[in-house]
Amino acid sequence: MDLEALRALPKAELHQHLDGAIRPETAVELAAEAGISLDLDGARARMIAPPHCRDQAELLTYFDLPIALLQTTPALSRVSAELVEAMASDGVRYGEIRWAPRLHLERGLAVTAVIEAVAAGVEEAARRLGDTAPLIALIVTAMRSHPPGANVELARTAAAFGEPVVGFDLAGPEATYPAPPHAAAFRAAEEGGLALTAHAGEVPGPERIREAIDLGVRRIAHGVTSAQDPATIALVRERDVTLDLCPTSNVQAGIVPDLAAHPLARLHRAGVSVTISTDDRTVSNTTLSEEMARSALAQEMTADELAAIALNGFRRGFWRGLALSRLTDLAQRAWGAWAVTEPAIS
Ligand SMILES: [Zn+2]
Repeated sequence: MDLEALRALPKAELHQHLDGAIRPETAVELAAEAGISLDLDGARARMIAPPHCRDQAELLTYFDLPIALLQTTPALSRVSAELVEAMASDGVRYGEIRWAPRLHLERGLAVTAVIEAVAAGVEEAARRLGDTAPLIALIVTAMRSHPPGANVELARTAAAFGEPVVGFDLAGPEATYPAPPHAAAFRAAEEGGLALTAHAGEVPGPERIREAIDLGVRRIAHGVTSAQDPATIALVRERDVTLDLCPTSNVQAGIVPDLAAHPLARLHRAGVSVTISTDDRTVSNTTLSEEMARSALAQEMTADELAAIALNGFRRGFWRGLALSRLTDLAQRAWGAWAVTEPAIS
């Protein structure tokens, strides 16, 4: 399969984290500004996770440096703009960027200022990119480990911000922190008009996926462990919940041993709505085009299957309004034409 052809196709990416996508070169400069000693090798070693971590908890340690560096308005805006540029050069035409504003308050910023800084970076990238700028929506992430009351406040602030913030998410160590204590935050987000998603299914057992579905989410970030349990697959399908899967990241977190064992294609064939994303361009050292190419090859997908999964990204996006419908039409034509010329993936 031609990676360049995939790169040129219009793509949607629904699951990626701002803090997992800092360019190592940028990290070195931000560290210098923050008085942290860091060279390029050090930045790479602390931000790019190995192919196989022990578990999700170990993978999460690769976000410690990024979080430390993203504590000022200029740093947040710069990294946001650079991520949008990276997505544009990868052919992403619609992207949702998520991050946890409450992790960026260490040096005095308020939650609203953090959201403003990221939105300003996205706008700056749009100015620089002009016609090639992707449509970008933001998802505000609440941390499982944070106090439920603080997350309710976060949901209200995120909802009050308005566009480009369109969604509300939950993330963090699943093994230790269940989702139900954060149900009130999800109600507040929903009442404020935000679309709901949550991270779940990166640790063994389908319970965390059921908890996320009980929060009323339309999409689950990962949800990989649903594949182990027919009843959970049935529930995900019945509620029409989309799983935003990130194959390389899931291998790194130790949920599956390798890409061939990832349930992406199997879930798609079982009628579950799935999408492909990078999760973290830097931490997982990948691009969306590469994720699509590698997954399609490892799982022996047909071109039609890959096209259908790619189009789910547009159809299941949280952005409301014509801009996304227009992009969906464009993507449908482009992927349809590609699938005709690419009958077998090899
Ligand atoms: Zn994620």
